Amino acid sequence: MVLIGGGHANVQILKKLCMNRIKGLHTILISKHFDATYSGMTPGYIHRDFNREEISIDLQRLCFNAGATFIKDKVIKLETNLKKIVLQNFPSISYDLLSINTGSISNTKGINIEKLSKCFFAKPISTLVNNLSQIDQIISNKKNRISIIGGGVASYELAFSLLKRYENNLEITIFGKNILKEKNLNEKTKKNLKKISSDLGIKEYSGEIVSITETHLVLISGERFNSDLNILSSGANIETWLSESNLNKDKNGYILVDNNLLSSDKNIFVTGDTCTVENNYRPKSGVMAVRQGQVLKENIFSKLTGKPLVKFKAQKNWLYLIGTYKNKALMNYFFLSFHGRWCWKLKEWIDRGFINKFKFTYNSNMSFRNFDLERPTDIKMYCQGCGSKVSKNTLVNFLNEENSHSDLPDSSIINTNSSSLLQSIDHIKLFTSLNPFDFGIISYLHSQNDILSSGGSVKTISVSQALPFSDGIIESFFMEYFMKGIKSEALKDGSSIISGHSYQSKEPGITITMNGIFEKRISKNQAQEDELIYLSKPLGTGYLLAAYFHNSELLSSFDFQKLMKWMKKGNKNVSDISKSFKSNITTDISGFGLASHLLDICRSSKLSAEIKLNKEILINKNIEILEKFKSTGFDNNFFSSSNDISISKNNKLKNILFDPQTNGPLLISINRRDQIEFEKKFETAIGLKPLLLGKFKKLENYLILVND
Ligand SMILES: Cc1cc2nc3c(=O)[nH]c(=O)nc-3n(C[C@H](O)[C@H](O)[C@H](O)COP(=O)(O)OP(=O)(O)OC[C@H]3O[C@@H](n4cnc5c(N)ncnc54)[C@H](O)[C@@H]3O)c2cc1C
Repeated sequence: MVLIGGGHANVQILKKLCMNRIKGLHTILISKHFDATYSGMTPGYIHRDFNREEISIDLQRLCFNAGATFIKDKVIKLETNLKKIVLQNFPSISYDLLSINTGSISNTKGINIEKLSKCFFAKPISTLVNNLSQIDQIISNKKNRISIIGGGVASYELAFSLLKRYENNLEITIFGKNILKEKNLNEKTKKNLKKISSDLGIKEYSGEIVSITETHLVLISGERFNSDLNILSSGANIETWLSESNLNKDKNGYILVDNNLLSSDKNIFVTGDTCTVENNYRPKSGVMAVRQGQVLKENIFSKLTGKPLVKFKAQKNWLYLIGTYKNKALMNYFFLSFHGRWCWKLKEWIDRGFINKFKFTYNSNMSFRNFDLERPTDIKMYCQGCGSKVSKNTLVNFLNEENSHSDLPDSSIINTNSSSLLQSIDHIKLFTSLNPFDFGIISYLHSQNDILSSGGSVKTISVSQALPFSDGIIESFFMEYFMKGIKSEALKDGSSIISGHSYQSKEPGITITMNGIFEKRISKNQAQEDELIYLSKPLGTGYLLAAYFHNSELLSSFDFQKLMKWMKKGNKNVSDISKSFKSNITTDISGFGLASHLLDICRSSKLSAEIKLNKEILINKNIEILEKFKSTGFDNNFFSSSNDISISKNNKLKNILFDPQTNGPLLISINRRDQIEFEKKFETAIGLKPLLLGKFKKLENYLILVND
């Protein structure tokens, strides 16, 4: 099952999957963003009542808890006849069942927007949130004229929240062809909204905008208005890949769905702003998307398990709670209209009630209900031993697509001029929910470190992939993503993939054997007294992954993205630089942790290392996480290394010495006289400073001495 978009409805399917598992089902979420923004709380975020994390759903973590794979990418084409989704950056994905909940984009029909105009779109709402820092920059201290082009409730909410954010440093005008034409708003609410906005000095102008220039707005009547910044809140449209798909649409171009929320293709559900429910037209809103989500999650489960689907019935009228100013909201329900602080409290309570369902707490203990798929895949008895391979079709199809080894030779010849070859093997297990393409990259770089540490470069690689137990398209998905991720790095590195093996396992992962040739022989016994010790990048992948996947509130999706950035950063350039400085020591910090690798060098070089631990060597500077979380490999690392280390009990960073690293940094020793030049060259080539850890010194009672 593939979900496109982390909208208000699709997130509810994932939440349901957190507590209910369907045997044989694999779920993939594709979303443009790491987070889903909850629309109801966005105006509150703009006027700084909530922070970014409070209004966001962390999609990677949601997928982790749901046992789904998360792919951050943009869908650019849907080929329903081939059941295939084309992505902007990653390989295409096939599906059996699809749920589309990608929201809408701002409607720019009939408006000429000049390149130099400072124009921002209110939809998709996540883009508005992402662009807020740019808006902040434009609205500095001077008085700015802001135009909101729209005229619906959202335009008023935006105007109120911008006014509060910039502390009245603005002159706001709402321009609209139709001002406050929403059917369900009663007259009293409309009057109230207009009064609140005019009391705050917000102007209104009725008319149709046809052009937005760098300095002006132009109306259809030819009138021109000065404007420094423009926000388009002028209704919704759907993205081109959807409008170009062959799914049936309504007269406005939205995807038409039946009462079960199924499109004209009965394997595709569509919900939220993207769809119109047949004979049930309602204005697009987050409230409607949430309601549809409640039906969608039931129907998805029913469809998969062969049960009858339920019908979605849109309400005729629903509660509006419109945030106004100074923690007040305006409530509209049938003929009732109130403005006050209690309305804001009610809004906050409802909104938090929804978003908090998607916040996971540390140690949240979930018990699963198991469902069976309609298809009998779960009955399959999987072979063990030599029979636990992937299907030959999957393999041959992949190799044919890649134009490689389609004759399936039993082994490959490595041609080399060197009399000695470097060889190393490494294995890492797939982290649940991680994009397997990114995992392929990480596993290549993780293995490459072994060859770099020995002063070599990679020539050929052999890959053994453990794919999850699965059927056709799931098996193909993992194989393609793993291999293409590995291949993307092999290409950059100039190495070739010469042989491989794949099998099915409960513990998916990648094993890579690398062959390399020497460029400069490096062994661990050559460290010299007084040489400086550097790390090529910061540490912390072990405990940070443990914290994130234990749902620690101390780590947000932004922290996870940062962690991923470091895990996907290779050490090849660093190794070249260290060789150019004739460094005798390079080692990679791997699963055994910093202390173990440094101890190996000290022991074989008969020296001690004097080091200082500071926050700079951490990927995440929050020491509380380091103190609270440990990877499962920590204890083994601690027991095998701690006796040789002198460190104060009070050193807050002591745990980092034993933290296992996935594609960790290289540890490099540099002659002190080269310090300035090395640091300069490193910074120019890598874009960051190398991290100075300490120096080697005469052998003392302890092999590692940590200064406070
Ligand atoms: C200022 C403002 C305030 C609002 N306030 C409210 C309110 O208080 N209450 C209310 O009910 N409504 C409100 N709305 C309306 C609301 O924003 C939308 O109706 C609602 O967000 C639609 O929800 P959705 O689930 O359809 O999609 P969205 O919540 O927009 O989610 C779409 C998801 O799809 C992803 N996506 C989009 N395109 C692609 C692609 N090509 N490939 C992969 N992923 C993709 C996005 O990253 C996003 O995660 C407001 C709108 C605005 C502009």
